[in-house]
Amino acid sequence: MHIKVKMTQRKRVWSIGLILVFLSGCSKAGWKVEEAEDFDLYYKPGTYAEAHLDDALKSYTNAMKLVEHVLPAINKTPKVKVYLHEGLKHKGYAKVEKREVHFRYDADFRLTSSHEFLHIFLYELNPHVPIRFEEGYCRIRERKRKRFQGQDHDILYYQLVKFVDPSRWTIEEVFHDNYKDDDDGNIAAAYVVYMMTTLGEPRFWQFYRGLDKRNWRALTERYFGQDLKTVDQGFKAFVQSIPNPPDAFRHKYSAENEHLHK
Ligand SMILES: [Zn+2]
Repeated sequence: MHIKVKMTQRKRVWSIGLILVFLSGCSKAGWKVEEAEDFDLYYKPGTYAEAHLDDALKSYTNAMKLVEHVLPAINKTPKVKVYLHEGLKHKGYAKVEKREVHFRYDADFRLTSSHEFLHIFLYELNPHVPIRFEEGYCRIRERKRKRFQGQDHDILYYQLVKFVDPSRWTIEEVFHDNYKDDDDGNIAAAYVVYMMTTLGEPRFWQFYRGLDKRNWRALTERYFGQDLKTVDQGFKAFVQSIPNPPDAFRHKYSAENEHLHK
């Protein structure tokens, strides 16, 4: 807060004291904490999360186990803080430097995937990786389910790259240090899968640890043993081979087409 006011020393001490009392009151009254082995779970009294604490603990324990299984190394201390919110607009996000993950967890929607946990540990593995590439890795195992016109569909999220204009199926779209939407994330995820299957996991992680914001071109040519144009052709062919998602996924849920999502 940047409010410029002139205060006497005494007034200043008093107001700082008041602020501290206010803050500690907030944290005590606002959040309760449940300690799990690898994380601390923060939730508010009277919420869906409090009523279903065992389910939440189980879900996030599984998410952490997956992270530990797939990454070459993770640092478990200090413990990750998991915050559960009712009606969180963005469903989930991570504050990597604070080691916090925030999820929507209420009666209507619960985000329990390992995606946000991955952001924390990937950042610690190498904080210099361009954000869009990191986002790509976080997505490679995520699934998307949809009920549409009486049928249930279940795909890998990144299959949606097939709905992105083919002119964007290129390595030039992957190593940006920004990321704005699902299309960006799904192109990057498809490329991560291509890299992992082509190079193998140990070499993928060597690449990942050596990557920074600017060296991806040289590093890509060295690891693939091909020039960029050839790597790009291989990537395009790989995206072509990904099965098309059912057309149902072209219909985003809206009030007008609600009747079709049954
Ligand atoms: Zn993400």
